[in-house]
Amino acid sequence: MSTMKIAVLPGDGIGPEIVAEALKVLQALDLRFELEQALVGGAAYDAHGHPLPEATLALAKGADAVLFGAVGDWKYDKLDRPLRPEQAILGLRKNLGLFANFRPAICYEQLTHASSLKPELVAGLDILIIRELTGDIYFGQPRGRRESPDGAFKGAPEAFDTMRYARPEIERIAHVAFQAARKRSKKVTSVDKANVLETFQFWKDVVTEVHAQYPDVELEHMYVDNAAMQLVKAPKKFDVVFTGNMFGDILSDEAAMLTGSIGMLPSASLNERNQGLYEPSHGSAPDIAGKGVANPLATILSAAMMLRFSLNQEQAAQRIERAVQAVLSQGLRTADIHSDGTRRVGTAEMGDAVVAALRAQG
Ligand code: NAD
Repeated sequence: MSTMKIAVLPGDGIGPEIVAEALKVLQALDLRFELEQALVGGAAYDAHGHPLPEATLALAKGADAVLFGAVGDWKYDKLDRPLRPEQAILGLRKNLGLFANFRPAICYEQLTHASSLKPELVAGLDILIIRELTGDIYFGQPRGRRESPDGAFKGAPEAFDTMRYARPEIERIAHVAFQAARKRSKKVTSVDKANVLETFQFWKDVVTEVHAQYPDVELEHMYVDNAAMQLVKAPKKFDVVFTGNMFGDILSDEAAMLTGSIGMLPSASLNERNQGLYEPSHGSAPDIAGKGVANPLATILSAAMMLRFSLNQEQAAQRIERAVQAVLSQGLRTADIHSDGTRRVGTAEMGDAVVAALRAQG
């Protein structure tokens, strides 16, 4: 087997602490990796004057996968937008063509109480939100500020953005969703706003056409406002939910909160070659950086997703996921998920416990 090449970009805040634990876990597997680290985000700006230096981008492009921590800190908020740490993520998405974002929302039985919903609504929850990541109103041109050219406020200053999706963009994310559903319960909910938006009527039409190639997968269409309601009313009705960039941004955070603990949620962003960027769903948490209290499990679970989607190592991915379950069953908890009757541990102790649970699998 050829060596799997992973670009490791720890970033800022708690990024280096949580990525160190994910690396411990990867290194405890019986696999060969070539791991190369580089600076990204505020750390890269401080050292090289840019959040995504050429060398970091080249490393990411040449790797099978990128393991990413988090970027950002309040101290960079006054920089011009292109120099802010968060631009590194947008740059990586764009340059690697990462158009499909996977955010599982899993409510572990051991953590059911952490959700703000009633336990019976979320116990055993396991949904996958797939968000289109490179199109929609976030990238559509033209956009800007101008004098309003018409209507009731003609002549007043206004700002505008453009929502647009091309057929191939919708087709490829629809294929990703239907194929993901085939590996799960074969049910897909496509979320749109076809009743109001031309872009999302087109979305719905194209998704329906693509669905003809997946007769074994059940497809339902749902308006985004209803989807937002159903996610808190009866989230277990869903399995794979897929949608455009803006609706996906909002719904994936809503789904994340169903599980109650942002420190537990991994994510993956993939391109057409299954090259991917894997990162926890949370940010750099500057408020707890350097204290050794951050939860590393979202990053460890992101490493499991990396093994599954980009490195074709399903068994190793499942081993990590089972090890995380085992550690939770042992009652170990970082501060963010701690409750009475469980044992509070720090970042490194949690990573060590996952490694020990892996080794205990034999
Ligand atoms: P955040 O996700 O960093 O933190 C929100 C809250 O959750 C904080 O109280 C934090 O302590 C807690 N938290 C987050 N991750 C945790 C973990 N693993 N364990 C325990 N607690 C955890 O969001 P924020 O505070 O809004 O943003 C902080 C910085 O992160 C900003 O600069 C923002 O731009 C950046 N950010 C980066 C990413 C990314 O790198 N992908 C994503 C979101 C925000």
